[in-house]
Amino acid sequence: MAYSYYDCEVIDIKEEAPGVKRFFLKYPNEVELRFDAGQFVMFDLPIDAKYTNRSYSIASAPSEDNVLELVIVINPQGLGTPHLFENVQVGSILKTSIPLGKFKLDEDLNRHICFICTGTGIAPFRSMIFDIFNKKRIFQQITLIFGVRTQKDILYRKEFEELEKSENNFKFIPVLSREKWEGKTGYVHDVYLDLFKEPGNHLFYLCGWANMLKEARENLKEMVYDRKQIRFESYD
Ligand SMILES: Cc1cc2nc3c(=O)[nH]c(=O)nc-3n(C[C@H](O)[C@H](O)[C@H](O)COP(=O)(O)OP(=O)(O)OC[C@H]3O[C@@H](n4cnc5c(N)ncnc54)[C@H](O)[C@@H]3O)c2cc1C
Repeated sequence: MAYSYYDCEVIDIKEEAPGVKRFFLKYPNEVELRFDAGQFVMFDLPIDAKYTNRSYSIASAPSEDNVLELVIVINPQGLGTPHLFENVQVGSILKTSIPLGKFKLDEDLNRHICFICTGTGIAPFRSMIFDIFNKKRIFQQITLIFGVRTQKDILYRKEFEELEKSENNFKFIPVLSREKWEGKTGYVHDVYLDLFKEPGNHLFYLCGWANMLKEARENLKEMVYDRKQIRFESYD
């Protein structure tokens, strides 16, 4: 499918964790950037590959400033991310699509919402969660279950810990697979299997790589959650 791409300027880059960077992109003034939390954009990259486009979920909540944030992990064996990490700097121009995709918040959120992700799969959930609070949307409880390897890999940790302190109905549960600490260890699956063992009218949003999604969807179905209660975005 052919997409239109705009020349967007990289206005900031921040190291968020080992091998993970936040990229801040400004769309040209003549483009009115509008998106729903959960959507992604595509880059058309100057790389020597059969497919030069790569997709990235928007990590920032919708705002009025024509700027969006992406959070990207390097794949050293890949073609696109080594280009983004080595050749792209503040001031670089990236050919970027308009926001795309149907992974969005439901209209009715008045339930317990559980976000389950690993690694940069946090991106659309950061956008969605801040959108919910910015717009004062009605919900019962939000639980964010976030799997990474070590404490250093907990993206946006401070932000989510602060949100948890200020909002009674938001719970942040990082889960570490390769480090012992005072919090949860192992994989995200054990956490929701335990937390949501009593079936209810919950809503599950899943995001990350296919393996994690497959296991989570199978588990949730076995726990008698209906397909209609599960939304997901796959990174591969
Ligand atoms: C909706 C969506 C959102 C994503 N959001 C994020 C994010 O927020 N952060 C993040 O770090 N990663 C995200 N990804 C993954 C990202 O798009 C890249 O796959 C990843 O960065 C690796 O790219 P690479 O070029 O370094 O690796 P490579 O191995 O060189 O490229 C792999 C990628 O190339 C593309 N590709 C290869 N073959 C085909 C084909 N036959 N048809 C079409 N495309 C093909 C695909 O995107 C594939 O995953 C997302 C993926 C999707 C689909």
